[in-house]
Formats: sequence, structure tokens, C-alpha cells
Amino acid sequence: TQTHSYKELNERSVLSYLEDKRLLTDKEKASCKEVGDGNLNYVFIVKDEVTGKTIVAKQALPYAKVVGESWPLSLERARIEASSLKHAAKTVPDLVPEVYGSDEDYALTVMEDLSDFTILRKGLIEGETYPHLADHVGRFLAQTLFSASDEALGPVEKKKLAKQFINPDLCDITEKLVFSDPYYNADTNSFPEELREDVEALWQNSGLKFEVAKLKKKFLTEGETLLHGDLHTGSIFVTNEETKVIDPEFAFFGPAGFDAGAFLANLFLNYLAQNERQTDEQKKQASRQYLLKTAVKTWEVFEKQYRDLLKKKGIDEQSRTDEYADYLLDKIRTDAIGFAGCKVIRRIIGLAHVEDVDGIENEEGRLRVQRKALELGQELILKRNTFTSISELVTWIGGDQ
Ligand code: ADP
Ligand code: MG
Ligand code: MG
Ligand code: MG
Repeated sequence: TQTHSYKELNERSVLSYLEDKRLLTDKEKASCKEVGDGNLNYVFIVKDEVTGKTIVAKQALPYAKVVGESWPLSLERARIEASSLKHAAKTVPDLVPEVYGSDEDYALTVMEDLSDFTILRKGLIEGETYPHLADHVGRFLAQTLFSASDEALGPVEKKKLAKQFINPDLCDITEKLVFSDPYYNADTNSFPEELREDVEALWQNSGLKFEVAKLKKKFLTEGETLLHGDLHTGSIFVTNEETKVIDPEFAFFGPAGFDAGAFLANLFLNYLAQNERQTDEQKKQASRQYLLKTAVKTWEVFEKQYRDLLKKKGIDEQSRTDEYADYLLDKIRTDAIGFAGCKVIRRIIGLAHVEDVDGIENEEGRLRVQRKALELGQELILKRNTFTSISELVTWIGGDQ
């Protein structure tokens, strides 16, 4: 096959490209708009005026803009993102955008347009609730995490698959921004001066830092299964009926609890933020209860389906016993709670914050949420071994925060 060298596309050149690839009828009868935030990737929404259909073309940029500098990032992540979406489509085709084409040279993925969906983070900030979210995310986690595991594939096929998802640059971002930088006075950190005392106390908590070091070691070494790698509420598109997981450019073989931890952390951050965002007491209680219930139900769906998959599709007798399922799910849950704690803390101290918290207009209120989040994050990390279920964890959060 002929290879082409990478070129950064724009709203015009992407139309020529798509016409060449026969993904567009006529570039003169098409419109295009770039909607990404432009820090890492371009996201072009293209309308074919002949067919009336729209598609999305996402192109990876060779660098990320970080604290005024440029952080070089392998373009391979576009191949990894497209491969991850295609892999997920084998078990959960309804929960990911359909991929129409991908191009390694251009670091481009052409996929289903989801403009009719809302980004979950935005919906949750507005106090919306989504009745099927827990069912969908629970099933996404069970199916995707099981399908790439040793218990599903056997060790040889699993390693062959894992070879396609070696993702050093993107893992390095997580290693630094989630597990390292928030725990010392790193340049990448970003937090208000009012939090300095709380943050410095955290930096001096050697017990906490030891536990974070252990969680980081898990992230570095435990290639249990193919992860999404960035499953926060900004990577999930929702409507009242449907859910679509996008943006798996951080995909790699890592510890199975990592994705669930990211999702739980973002529910908990929104839960803490609602306390200051929602002024109507009844609506506040309703949305906070919804968030905690969603956390519990997501886990219940995940756990039940994961157990069923192990029992029905486990590769050998050893992986099909109840004892083994108990052992694995305890491990995944404990890890997930710890990772959730790290994810909460990085959103307060680290480089990339979340709108749920930072968008709180009242400064006092925002600081209250940030302090609660720092407290919660630390407790999640330190107490992760003491909770025997997510229901127990959530009861504790609901009573305490
Ligand atoms: P990044 O990796 O740069 O964060 P994302 O894949 O998360 O890129 O996409 C960034 C934004 O582009 C999303 O928040 C969403 O607004 C828009 N977007 C991405 N994919 C689609 C899609 N398939 N359909 C419609 N909009 C999309
Ligand atoms: Mg972005
Ligand atoms: Mg991304
Ligand atoms: Mg994204």
C-alpha cells in the first residue's frame, strides 16, 4: 500500500481527503466545522450536502500544548483509538461510535457523528439524569474488560492483542499527571493559593504517598486487560436512551480497575460540586442521590456481567470457579477505589481540572468543594481495602460528605 506523510488537515483539506477516500460525495457540496479544543486533536464535523449525512473526522496532532510548552505526542495514538473503538464494537457495538475508516499516516479516524448527543459532564453539571447510564457503563466495563483478559483470550492471544496497544506517550501523561505531579511541588500543578495549606499537608502525608506509589506501580506493571484509559465523564456521550463512549486514545493494557475508578471519580466530583451548584434543596438531593445510585448500579451491573462472562466464557476450569471470581472482583474493586482517589486529587491539584468544580462561580463554595474533594480523594486511597462493596463505599460518602 502507498504511504502518505502526515499533514495537519484544515476545514478545507479534510474535505478533499474525504472525497479521495470516497467518504464524501463531492467536496464542493459539503460543509465542515472544527469543534475540538485543539490542544491535542482536531475534530471536524463534515456534512455531505448531497446525501444529507454528517460524519466526524478526528485527527491527532503531533504535540500537546502544556503549560505554554509543547509536549510531543506520538501520532500512534490515532491508530490506537481507532483500534480500540473497533475492538469495543465486537462486544458493545451500541456503546461506541461506528468507525467508517481510519488512516495511520494521517493519524485520522472517521466515525459516526454524535452531535445529537450531550457530553455527560455537561449534562451532569446541568443537573440532568440519565436512566440507562449505569446499565450502559456497567455493561461497557464488563464486556470490554473481560474480552481482552487472559481469562477470555488465553495468554498467547492476549499478548498478541496487547502488542497492538503499547502506548508509552499517553501512559506517560497519566503516570505524571495522575500519579506523580500532584504529590510534590511540580511545575504542572495548578491550584488556588487558598488551598496551599491543604495541598502542603497532602505533600507531607508519607502514608498517603506510599499508597499512591503502590497504585502507580499497578498502573505501570499490571497489564491485565485493554483499558479505555481516559474514562471520565467528558469521554461519554449521552441521550435519555443511549450512551456512547468516545476518545480511547489512552488505551493500553493496564489494571482492570482503572476505567471504573475514573468513572466513579467523576461521579463523585460532580456529587460534591452539586452541593454548591444547586440552590433548590429538593433538586440538589435528587441529583446527588442519582449520582450515588448511578455509582452503585454501575458496579452491580459490571460485577454481575463480569461474573457471568467468567463462568460462561472463562478459558479454563481455574477461571470459572466462584472463588476465583470473588478474588478477581475484590481486586478490581479495591484498585478502582484507589484509582478513583488519585483521579479526584489530580483534578484539584494537577494540571487538568474539571468544569464541574472549577465552574462553580462562588469562590467560597468552590473552595469548599475543592477541600472536600481533597479529603475524599485521600480517604479513597487510604481506605480502599476496607470497603467490601461499592454500595458500602457510597453509603459512607453519602453520610460523610
Ligand atoms: P480529545 O481527545 O481531543 O479530547 P474527543 O474525542 O474527546 O477529543 O473529542 C473532543 C470533542 O469533540 C468532544 O467533546 C465532542 O464535543 C466532539 N466530538 C468528538 N467526537 C465526536 C463525534 N463522534 N460526534 C460529534 N462530536 C464529537
Ligand atoms: Mg479535549
Ligand atoms: Mg482524548
Ligand atoms: Mg476527550
